[in-house]
Amino acid sequence: MTMRLLEGKTAIITGASRGIGKAIAIKFAEEGCNIAFTDLFYDDIAKATEAELLAMGVKAKAYSSDASKFEETQVIVNQITADFGSVDILINNAGITKDTLLMRMTEEQWDAVITVNLKSVFNFTKAVQAGMLKQRSGSIVNMSSVVGVSGNGGQSNYSASKAGIIGFTKSIAKELGSRGIRSNAIAPGFIITEMTAKIPEEARKQWEANIPMKRGGLPEEVAKVALFLASDLASYVSGQVINVCGAMNT
Ligand code: NAD
Repeated sequence: MTMRLLEGKTAIITGASRGIGKAIAIKFAEEGCNIAFTDLFYDDIAKATEAELLAMGVKAKAYSSDASKFEETQVIVNQITADFGSVDILINNAGITKDTLLMRMTEEQWDAVITVNLKSVFNFTKAVQAGMLKQRSGSIVNMSSVVGVSGNGGQSNYSASKAGIIGFTKSIAKELGSRGIRSNAIAPGFIITEMTAKIPEEARKQWEANIPMKRGGLPEEVAKVALFLASDLASYVSGQVINVCGAMNT
């Protein structure tokens, strides 16, 4: 029997009740990874995802946590470390949009997106750092966006948060590289999830027409790249941003 790629490892995935985070949790569990995932609420969606993972024969637990809260994150990561023993992989996936033109953007819309998307990455990375340093290994994967690479009208808050994630990712790769810890980012293009379902039908068709591959991506297609980065397949890959966007050029 061939060894699965993440056999016996433990991953924390934030915001993973649904969407891309859930697809990553399922893909990792297929490869033998134990999964601690967070989301805002331990609701029916979180419970269903937890049950699905447990049915795959790995250890899995859902934690209710607001990733944007610093102290709460320390508590959750301590709890996860106690429950699972160690943390090998961190996937910073939780994210929100509050799209509007700068002219109409409120301070609340700016702060919410920066805090949930960017500060959460600081919170979780800082909280897992000590454990990863001690074991002298770890892989951190942060969910950026093509919009963080090239900008997008109507998304200045979101785009700034996703560009910030790239700067953080590259800095951590340099800071922790000598200790066996890798840090990379994924920049998805247009992925079909609840986040993009909010976009009106007409606008969505137009987006798709502008993608060279002529379709939106699936959460599983992002999950496959997360698996690559999290596993030893990427043992010498750090400080990188990988676009998963069907050659989209925004
Ligand atoms: P989604 O809305 O389907 O899922 C996001 C999850 O994060 C939800 O379960 C939500 O409850 C959770 N969440 C929100 N705020 C949170 C918080 N403060 N603490 C913990 N959890 C929280 O979105 P998705 O499309 O699966 O997106 C996942 C990530 O991928 C996000 O960071 C998003 O910005 C990024 N992304 C998505 C796309 C896309 O096209 N869907 C493109 C580029 C990047």
